[in-house]
Amino acid sequence: MAYTSNLDEFKEWITTRYPDQKEYLQATLDIAKDVIPICNANEKYKQWDVFKRLCEPERTIQFCVTWLNDANEIQINKGWRVQHCGLIGPYKGGLRFHPTVNESILKFLAFEQSFKNALTGLPIGGAKGGSDFNPKGRSDYEVMRFCQAFMQELQRHIGPYTDVPAGDINVGSREIGFLYGEYRKINNRFGGAITGKDIEFGGSYVRTEATGFGLIYFLDDVLEHTGTNIKGKRIAVSGAGNVALHAALKATQHGGKVVTLSNSRGTLIHEKGFTEEDLNWVINHKGEPDNILLSLNERIDGDWKADEKPWQTEVDIALPCATQNELIGKDARALISNGCKFVLEGANMPCNDAAQRAFSDAKVVFVPGKASNAGGVALSGLEMSQNATFHKATYKAMNSALKEIMANIHRQCVEEGDEGDYVNYAKGANVAAFRRLADALVAQGV
Ligand code: GLU
Repeated sequence: MAYTSNLDEFKEWITTRYPDQKEYLQATLDIAKDVIPICNANEKYKQWDVFKRLCEPERTIQFCVTWLNDANEIQINKGWRVQHCGLIGPYKGGLRFHPTVNESILKFLAFEQSFKNALTGLPIGGAKGGSDFNPKGRSDYEVMRFCQAFMQELQRHIGPYTDVPAGDINVGSREIGFLYGEYRKINNRFGGAITGKDIEFGGSYVRTEATGFGLIYFLDDVLEHTGTNIKGKRIAVSGAGNVALHAALKATQHGGKVVTLSNSRGTLIHEKGFTEEDLNWVINHKGEPDNILLSLNERIDGDWKADEKPWQTEVDIALPCATQNELIGKDARALISNGCKFVLEGANMPCNDAAQRAFSDAKVVFVPGKASNAGGVALSGLEMSQNATFHKATYKAMNSALKEIMANIHRQCVEEGDEGDYVNYAKGANVAAFRRLADALVAQGV
């Protein structure tokens, strides 16, 4: 297939190749519009057809996970690992356990991860994995047996210099502990084959907080670039998981007013703004009751809106931190008409195409997750280097390393995305990451 020099040809090529993988098509087309012009202007990129080659994962592994539930009944789940791009380092990316997980979703996440990881400046390639298993409502024993069965298969494909998984949705410290325990027992090896480990067995300070804290460090840089700051700004956060809660906590510590948190059942609005104490309480009780936001509401007397998203609220800043495509065109229009000026993605691809178009038409500053949520994987990269040297860096050192990495990503986005009166962060992130991957691909040959 000859080099494709325009978006329509590329669209036809990728759609014919993966007709049913809508999330993967969405992610590749989003990057294509920004990088095809870069390829057209570079003889080497053209000659080596770099972008199309980056759209084909290097390896997709699918396996069966069988395990016994508490009633001793056989359970069957699907497991995957998509090793998308190993050009600049060992494959790296999280594992997601969720009933909606399928190959298209993991391929889009692995593809985005390769670009995100390139932006961190660290030597880490891109991957993603997971299962259609749902840990919600399962006992600790069931989750443990599932994780062990999952790792019995996955372990042969990973290692500190090969592929290093971590957490993602529904894969937190409990799951990482079980997964790592099984990896260690089978291989009789300590090592950085998984990140997000507990601090007592090879984990890094700030890893847990890194995605959410990094998002706010990036937000501070964006606001400073536009001559303002976070103090007193009203912020809508969606989600109530690790990313959302740590983003809300850091935003509050920096003087912002976080007025929403949400989950799949609804949104909790708190006009006064959540306090650090409220947020720490949720962080410490996460996973205990069925709907932690309802329990929080008993403490704060906020406004629980069942089945509603946070995007109808009047805010200056929106931080979608839940999941892909949670913020669609009409949500974006509601935010814009309510005065929202900044949208930074904490989740991966939470804003769909229509929402992104609405933001850019209204000159609302929009930052894609591959830039603004890169703090998590960046800290994972730093955990890998601590494991490789048996070193344990201090909290302070890791926190300032995180700030520096986020500032560096911000600088790259501005360099590649400055359009005079507006920074196109989406284009900046796509182009900066692409150049790093494309140069490595050209250097390493076919
Ligand atoms: N799941 C996170 C992400 O989407 C972190 C991945 C990692 O630490 O490897 O970037």
